[in-house]
Amino acid sequence: MRVAMFSTKTYDKTFFEAKNEKFGHEITYLEARLTKDTTSLAENNQAACVFVNDILDADVLRNLSEKKVSLIALRCAGFNNVDIKTADELGIKVVRVPAYSPHAVAEHTVGLMLALNRKIHRAYARVREANFSLEGLLGFDMRGKTVGIIGTGKIGQSVAEILQGFGCKLLAHDPYPNEALKEMGVEYVKLPELFSSSDIISLHCPLMPETYHIIDDAAIRMMKKGVMLINTSRGALVDTPDVIEGLKDGKIGYLGLDVYEEEGDLFFEDLSEKVIQDDVFSRLLTFPNVIVTGHQAFFTVDAMKSIAETTLSNISTVEEGKPCVNEVTVDFIKS
Ligand code: NAD
Repeated sequence: MRVAMFSTKTYDKTFFEAKNEKFGHEITYLEARLTKDTTSLAENNQAACVFVNDILDADVLRNLSEKKVSLIALRCAGFNNVDIKTADELGIKVVRVPAYSPHAVAEHTVGLMLALNRKIHRAYARVREANFSLEGLLGFDMRGKTVGIIGTGKIGQSVAEILQGFGCKLLAHDPYPNEALKEMGVEYVKLPELFSSSDIISLHCPLMPETYHIIDDAAIRMMKKGVMLINTSRGALVDTPDVIEGLKDGKIGYLGLDVYEEEGDLFFEDLSEKVIQDDVFSRLLTFPNVIVTGHQAFFTVDAMKSIAETTLSNISTVEEGKPCVNEVTVDFIKS
């Protein structure tokens, strides 16, 4: 298939070129993000391969359909950036990579917890300046602490498994409890109980209307003073101005983010020579107890190989006219 790959970085090209020797698709690697201004770049292609911050709203999908693009191949798990209903109506198939390495995201999540707790980001900078003082670096034992996991699918489960090894007490909230976790002794509770009982709260649910700003002022008010909040899922699960207020009054003691609601204008680019215009994001960076990474939780060799393999295989399956298990449709979302 002829595929226009948007938002391509050198690392995408490296992994896709290697895997594509087996699949033989004609891929055009484009640096541009897919937006309504860049749809023309998809001309003469049957598929558009996109990532988390490409925009596939109704206007973009209509433009792509006019250009005879009939397949959207997401090279990620989340599909909140695609108007699935419009895609269905236009007869554009949407496929994704539901699981590439939940462990990659889970391990980064726990990495954020440990770095925040033991203040490794501050210790790193201090030691490089020959400052070996321990003042301000006091942490706590993870063992015995209560961690609340919101969303216990593949990534949430992996986080729970790691933290069980640390001796944490695990609470969870998910409309569809995970039997394997229940057998491990994870206790499913309602959200208010999770908020009020957890020392650490980690978000692993998808972004949907029901989960939009699941962490807002009302939720924060229920939490323990000094709680650690981690979001490696999707930025808009968190109301950032409310979280900033929580940080300012000490209710939130630690914040670890790999995603940010307005990350589309920031992440995946080197902006080190630019003035950041997003004042909310800039405020986050001023706190000593906040660590932000730029949507890198998925970024391991193992995950990249798996993403390339599944994406190209999805494209081949659709090209051959076979049903694709990784297709996202309106019916799939309802189920
Ligand atoms: P998954 O589909 O396996 O699990 C999601 C879980 O969330 C499911 O068990 C589902 O029942 C649950 N859920 C749905 N609605 C909920 C609600 N209202 N409250 C609580 N739980 C709810 O997905 P996954 O592979 O574990 O991925 C989770 C999320 O991680 C994805 O949606 C994506 O946004 C994010 N992600 C981030 C990165 C990264 O690099 N930072 C990489 C991959 C995925």
